[in-house]
Amino acid sequence: MRKVSRSIQKRIRFAGKKVRLLYTAAVLAAVLLGAAVLGENGYLSIDLPGWLGEFTQPYQPVAQLTGEEVAAVHFIDVGQGDSVLIQAGEAAVLIDAGERDQGQKVCEYLKAAGVQQLDLVIATHPHSDHIGGLPDVIEQFPVEEILMPDLPDEMVPTTAVFQRLVESVEQQQIPVTAASAGMEYPLAEGVCLTVLAPLEPEEDLNNVSVVCRLDCGANSFLFCGDAEEPVEEALLDSAAQVKAQVLKAGHHGSNTSSSGAFLDAVSPSIAVISCGQGNDYGHPHREVLDRLSQRAVTVYRTDQDGTVVLTSDGQSIAVQTETGGAQ
Ligand SMILES: [Zn+2]
Repeated sequence: MRKVSRSIQKRIRFAGKKVRLLYTAAVLAAVLLGAAVLGENGYLSIDLPGWLGEFTQPYQPVAQLTGEEVAAVHFIDVGQGDSVLIQAGEAAVLIDAGERDQGQKVCEYLKAAGVQQLDLVIATHPHSDHIGGLPDVIEQFPVEEILMPDLPDEMVPTTAVFQRLVESVEQQQIPVTAASAGMEYPLAEGVCLTVLAPLEPEEDLNNVSVVCRLDCGANSFLFCGDAEEPVEEALLDSAAQVKAQVLKAGHHGSNTSSSGAFLDAVSPSIAVISCGQGNDYGHPHREVLDRLSQRAVTVYRTDQDGTVVLTSDGQSIAVQTETGGAQ
């Protein structure tokens, strides 16, 4: 366990060092630019052009890990979409990577978090807000295995975004595994990721979503992709172990998901909703927020909190958000 903690700490320190170096370079550039402005106009003005601002704000992991963590779960803010990084010991797993234009942001975040390779990438289901950014990730990081739902021929999308994913998976020769309930991925001592769905053939692409649970000592996290109520019912019927302290609410907090019966079975204390500011779908829906608040669930939203990082020491969970610091 101690070994696990040290390795996470080392990686975060390493990432921190890189970020500091970038800052130093940016500050030097700013000073030089300021000096140039002073020379021309006779007064000091360090007005950075927009493009330089890009370099002064390198991505960095939100959480300042202390080394006591057994696992860290990062809900990366990718606007309207999903992207979750799980780190445990030396292992790193990525679930989805947002739309295509978020791929590079996810890559920068992974690099800053010290990720050098991904043991597993899960493409929950072939919609652009989940798989669009994955080709960038696959092309920039060695990936051991990619897990996705097995689709009947008539459901295989013909979209450009899906074609691009298939091409980059083939190009990088990454083994693809068809997800099925019961698969287990031990990530570190006391940390295991278990696939709960898909359970049965579904007609809607949202409902083929890979649903999985991360167990970390006494803590559990449930990731629902865009699974809707029929999947929630199937999970309850199958007597799958869905109880978890942390729920990644299905389908960006849509009212199609997070039914009362499902919330009662999961019984989370924290829910994370991944959605974009002012998105066209009105996510998260008021009804879902009401159901969560009736059950006294603390809600974190990437549209309001930015990236949300939950760390577990196997006993308790700590939360840090991009906008609000630690809680
Ligand atoms: Zn989605």
